[in-house]
Amino acid sequence: MSVSMSTSRKAQASAELALALVRSSVRKLEGYIPGEQPAIPGLIKLNTNENPYPPSPRVLRAVKNAVDVRLRLYPNPTSSALREALAKFHRCSPEQILVGNGSDDVLALITRAMSDPAPEGASPGSSLSSRSVVQFLSPCYSLYPVLARIHGAVPVAVPLAADFSLPSRRALERGGSWRFDAALTFITTPNAPTGRGYATGDLRKLCRLQTGAVVLDETYADFAQENALNLAFDFPHVLVTRTFSKAYSLCFQRVGYAVAHPEIIRALDKIRDSYNVNGLGQVAALATLNDPAYYRRNFERIKRSRARLTRSLERMGFEVLPSQANFLLAKPPSFPAERWLGLLRERNILVRWFKSPEIRDYIRVTVGSEREVSVLIAAVRSILQNHER
Ligand SMILES: *Cc1c(COP(=O)(O)O)cnc(C)c1O
Repeated sequence: MSVSMSTSRKAQASAELALALVRSSVRKLEGYIPGEQPAIPGLIKLNTNENPYPPSPRVLRAVKNAVDVRLRLYPNPTSSALREALAKFHRCSPEQILVGNGSDDVLALITRAMSDPAPEGASPGSSLSSRSVVQFLSPCYSLYPVLARIHGAVPVAVPLAADFSLPSRRALERGGSWRFDAALTFITTPNAPTGRGYATGDLRKLCRLQTGAVVLDETYADFAQENALNLAFDFPHVLVTRTFSKAYSLCFQRVGYAVAHPEIIRALDKIRDSYNVNGLGQVAALATLNDPAYYRRNFERIKRSRARLTRSLERMGFEVLPSQANFLLAKPPSFPAERWLGLLRERNILVRWFKSPEIRDYIRVTVGSEREVSVLIAAVRSILQNHER
């Protein structure tokens, strides 16, 4: 008894010692909470917007062929072959492209390069220097405020319009908390978790109003009717980020990139880790760009399934937001959304629920394969039938 007491007291004392070494701002941080990745056999995993289809056979072959004694060597430090291929793909120059360890890495680099840390305890408000403002229209990708806090900048969340569309200039001015001079503005387009696409014309107008940097996070652009990549070529203060994760079935490999003015790319390049993109990731991404037809077919399949799932859910009483992405945000009938999460989980289907007030009445469902969509529809039908009885 006394032995275990003193052991636990010792453990506590060293934990306190260790914690005291950590910067106070880091101690207070709440990290990003990623969607679950449970290893349950047969689980239908519709919670993190992964692509249901495998990478192209060419990609799998290229990665397998690269696994040999070369693993002992460092990868290409500037992802040069991949940047050249991306430049060809987007009709720009490699100097306009920076590759990262997933686009999350790129978003973190952008936050560090484009915004200033604020004095401790600073909060949003007119006295806060615009240099420390990292703003976004919420709900959106929930990593942005975490990146801002890690860096010591101040996240400012400004609500989207009630139907989750982009607010007009007048609405932003009236709301009072939007900063047209913010050092950094993040826009997820198409948006997550709402699925809404924003018209390029509206994004262009918003970019024109901003004096600081604007990031258009186009993770889901391949599932949308239009994209705003040209804004990165038209404006020196606009950056577009893309990723191989969702549309190109490469989450595991962690490859994302930014397209921006060469001066901005040079700045980001200075602060990244020297080998920030792993070698197999570079191989996989390069092979991906060599098989565009394969991926175009998958985009079409996912868009067809998205339409079928939308129709079926609507017939069963769900209110489904129009989606330009590979997921749907839907307000379910009969039970609270959080309960649906549990009811579906009992049937081995994992979807996502967010407890933030604007979207707590919704569930977010990734568009899976044709079979997964059918299983989901059947499960929803059976849940509703059991409820009626
Ligand atoms: C998934 C996601 C990312 C992260 O992508 P990675 O390239 O895998 O890091 C970034 N932005 C949004 C909106 C996402 O949904």
